[in-house]
Amino acid sequence: MTHKVPVLISACLLGIRCRYDQDHALNQSLLDHFDHIQPVPVCPEQLGGLPTPRPPADIKGGDGRDVLEGRGRLITCEGQDVTEQFLRGAREAVRIAELSGVRLALMKDKSPSCGLNTPHCDKPEGHGIGVTAALLISRGFHVIELAKGSQFPKAGLF
Ligand code: SF4
Repeated sequence: MTHKVPVLISACLLGIRCRYDQDHALNQSLLDHFDHIQPVPVCPEQLGGLPTPRPPADIKGGDGRDVLEGRGRLITCEGQDVTEQFLRGAREAVRIAELSGVRLALMKDKSPSCGLNTPHCDKPEGHGIGVTAALLISRGFHVIELAKGSQFPKAGLF
């Protein structure tokens, strides 16, 4: 029997309709590697207690690292501050990763939670890291960003 490697994966990339608009972002190429991967799906925004659908939020005052350090806030398009929910979701995602023995996380691009280069932030360069991605990296996890249509970068990972 093939040993499967546990991998934390943004749930929307697996076809789960957990996005803010109740859609998913299924990455078909991931499904081709389930012989090697034990997927551990997480949606940090849902884990933080936010509903689906929900108003989208942007990071104000920096990016996810600034949120972790208390300088940045998550504000929805309706003006609601959802920083605490984003932080709770990030901590829960890390807790699940630790409980599952995960070392690698495949996270959805562009998200203010999961992305490594999200445009939904306040950095001068126009992009920055999401809150959950920042917390995962700070705890020593290897994080790779994946788009809906991109190929799963298997080479060298297993
Ligand atoms: S990108 Fe992350 S937070 Fe957003 S829907 Fe997907 S799993 Fe949830």
